[in-house]
Amino acid sequence: MSLLVVGSVAFDQIETPFGKSDKIVGGAGTYISLVSSYFTKNLGIVSVVGDDFPQEYIDLFHQKNINTDALQIKEGEKSFFWAGKYHNDMNSRDTLVTDLNVLGTFKPEVPKAFENADFLMLGNLSPDVQLSVINQMPTRPKLVVLDTMNFWMDIALDDLHKVIAKIDVLTINDEEARQLSGEYSLVKAARKIIGMGPKVLIIKKGEHGALLFNEKEVFFAPALPLEEVFDPTGAGDSFAGGFIGYLAKTGDISFDNMKRAIIFGSAMASFCVEKFGTIRIENLSSKEIETRVQQFIDLVQFDIVLEG
Ligand code: AMP
Repeated sequence: MSLLVVGSVAFDQIETPFGKSDKIVGGAGTYISLVSSYFTKNLGIVSVVGDDFPQEYIDLFHQKNINTDALQIKEGEKSFFWAGKYHNDMNSRDTLVTDLNVLGTFKPEVPKAFENADFLMLGNLSPDVQLSVINQMPTRPKLVVLDTMNFWMDIALDDLHKVIAKIDVLTINDEEARQLSGEYSLVKAARKIIGMGPKVLIIKKGEHGALLFNEKEVFFAPALPLEEVFDPTGAGDSFAGGFIGYLAKTGDISFDNMKRAIIFGSAMASFCVEKFGTIRIENLSSKEIETRVQQFIDLVQFDIVLEG
């Protein structure tokens, strides 16, 4: 099944209690497509960079079978730049800089080869860009998943409402779910957000796992307790890449299969945070992924015999 990923391809600068990175390659589209490439070989990315973006990363996309026909390179312009600083708990962060640069005027173009993609992953980007991609698809994909963040809720809420009315699955974190719904209880927030359009909502809670809601049911995936978390940047995008990658690989979009998909998403996120930037998700083996998923199964498996 084919998968089209839309999202920022960027430079990041990250500060954690353990140190500060140089300008390194990041971006939601980068994390999502690198992670999804472990699940499907029929994968393309829609994004934009400036001529400052390193060719070795475009080569890496090609090595991973990621089609870059729709990755625009703007001569004489600068790539998107984001800087963030994590608090001591490594679960929350402040955005220090968001320089949209090439993203400010980005007009996405869906490549011919992916016009009829079965799966569409709209990674974190301005909601009008996300909407323009949906509108360019001549046949509606089997599943449209969208990720967003508080930044867009603050500056483009109306556009965000327009796009989330058209999607199947929304992924946001707990703080963003509260902001979008105006409800503190995540159960009430989920009900309100599902009323805005998406059939399924995933609420990411960092080291406390993720919740999967539809209109009637709720399911929980834990995060793997890790001895060391080095850099949480990209964890949400790696989660999304594992989630949609697994669905595209299996071709099954039932709620039961989404339960499995959020376990794969959580497993891929757990790799991402073990090293700075994209390093850990650049070279994983299928054995490593399988072993990690098994750890998740072991983490939550228990036998209880109920009387009566
Ligand atoms: P995550 O840690 O999964 O929430 O995503 C982090 C990535 O999101 C970083 O690599 C940033 O480059 C990217 N990012 C941060 N802010 C924005 C934004 N406003 N638009 C698009 N991408 C962003």
